[in-house]
Amino acid sequence: MTIDHAAFMREVPPLTQMRDLLADSDLPIARSLAQLEAMIRRDLDMVRYPIRSWVLPKTAPDGSRAYDALIVGGGQSGLSAAFGLKRSRVDHILVIDEKPAGQEGPWGTYGRMRTLRSEKFVGGMDLGIPNLSIRAWFEAQYGLSAWDAMDKLPKQLWHRYLSWYRRVLDLPVRNNCRLIDFRPAEDGLIAIDVEKDGVPETLWCRKLVFATGIDGNGTPNVLPFIQSLPADRWAHTHDMIDFAKLRGKKVGVLGGAASAFDNAAMAAEMGADEVHLFHRRTDLNPANPVAWGQFNGFLAHFADLDIAQRWRFINHIHSFKPAPPAETMARVKSLSNVIRHGGYTWTDARLDDEKVIIEATDGTHAFDFVILGTGYILDVAVRREFQPHLDLIALWSDVYTPPPGEQNDNLARATYLGASFEMQEKVKGTAPWLNSIFNFSRGAQLSMGTMAIGLSGIKFGAPRLVHGVCQQLFCEDVALYEAGMKKWQTSGATTDE
Ligand SMILES: Cc1cc2nc3c(=O)[nH]c(=O)nc-3n(C[C@H](O)[C@H](O)[C@H](O)COP(=O)(O)OP(=O)(O)OC[C@H]3O[C@@H](n4cnc5c(N)ncnc54)[C@H](O)[C@@H]3O)c2cc1C
Repeated sequence: MTIDHAAFMREVPPLTQMRDLLADSDLPIARSLAQLEAMIRRDLDMVRYPIRSWVLPKTAPDGSRAYDALIVGGGQSGLSAAFGLKRSRVDHILVIDEKPAGQEGPWGTYGRMRTLRSEKFVGGMDLGIPNLSIRAWFEAQYGLSAWDAMDKLPKQLWHRYLSWYRRVLDLPVRNNCRLIDFRPAEDGLIAIDVEKDGVPETLWCRKLVFATGIDGNGTPNVLPFIQSLPADRWAHTHDMIDFAKLRGKKVGVLGGAASAFDNAAMAAEMGADEVHLFHRRTDLNPANPVAWGQFNGFLAHFADLDIAQRWRFINHIHSFKPAPPAETMARVKSLSNVIRHGGYTWTDARLDDEKVIIEATDGTHAFDFVILGTGYILDVAVRREFQPHLDLIALWSDVYTPPPGEQNDNLARATYLGASFEMQEKVKGTAPWLNSIFNFSRGAQLSMGTMAIGLSGIKFGAPRLVHGVCQQLFCEDVALYEAGMKKWQTSGATTDE
């Protein structure tokens, strides 16, 4: 049977026709953030059952209580995971982020798009509490019709929403705190070496969650010949770039995806004389496979497919190089100082007479500064924190050999995860403690699908992760819970049920 996907997977229209009804009635809609925050407290109170803290405390080697879970990364994934754990009454948790408050993730730093690429309706961080959604937050401040009138969410709004989300939920985030290393410790704990404002410290936890984002299992992809240039002459789109310094300069940008185009536009808008944008592909395809996968079946249950099916899907998705979003294309096209070199790439670079000389497939070019929009390399082996454990961690190359024609070395290096993002041992019995390490980052895509790589997946990924953490915390201590139940029975405690 062949399916016409466009016709079959039609969208259910939003309830905009309810606007007049809502505006005229006494229905409780927050008209300010203060009102919204009060409503959220009430929402959380109404669905608070069961209310008891239940995770049994474990004492760390330094005498402190080990964290039930420690989350590395205070971006949207880490915050959602923290909220999910708190709602499940896993109370003793900590989120750490190496960046100062407000600089976590791309939104206030290296994200140079004007709007989110996702639809404004994408949600999920609310974890089912409607008043916690971006829409409720927006409408409380700007009104219902402003939401209807908005096409896509400005990046700054999303950034502000994340700060608010963290504050209103009182999530325990420690900024300027970088995870350096982790290792198994006594009593089933994980020891974590961190640096807080440069000062080393060891923390202990029972479960360690990596919510470290797009480069959490790898690194920005920097072409070797660019690395030999002086550091003040080039940047990757992942870096902080002082665009004001590019005023009046000639800039070269390499890359065919959204970030390369947004960085080229930003340089041009900030007054660069000329921005030359090189991208190998000319057939920039407007269709995006991530957009295809925006439905419950794929988002929630990709991880339930067998390994061959998962490989085929993600291999195909990776082979597909979607064009930048329409807004980004329009932004670039509107700038007369962006000159596109479609169909051409760079082969070498050197510094000559204070200019960066780029050898491109369409000739030799001289620039004052160059920007790489060349994406990311997925490879845990380049991450210092994973290096001591590389012999133990299961990768996809350990569990799956794709048939001829489907090989992909990048995918083969991805960590092979269990049903709730937990890492697996390469050889059974050699490092069972790895199950306590949850990889809720971009590197989870092959095992888990979209659940950890963008906003559309968080709604499904965060609950799955929380389920896995809670399952382990309870099952590991089942003997203690059983003993507790027997003691409780004989102590004459009563209950309403
Ligand atoms: C430019 C850009 C635009 C994007 N636009 C969209 C979009 O519109 N829609 C969408 O769905 N997705 C988008 N994405 C993809 C994805 O949603 C984002 O990458 C998003 O930020 C992922 O959230 P996260 O919380 O997983 O990771 P991040 O937001 O990247 O957060 C990870 C955090 O981990 C911290 N960290 C990393 N290592 C350590 C360490 N060792 N110790 C302490 N802290 C550490 C980092 O400082 C960072 O703050 C975009 C990505 C980029 C790069």
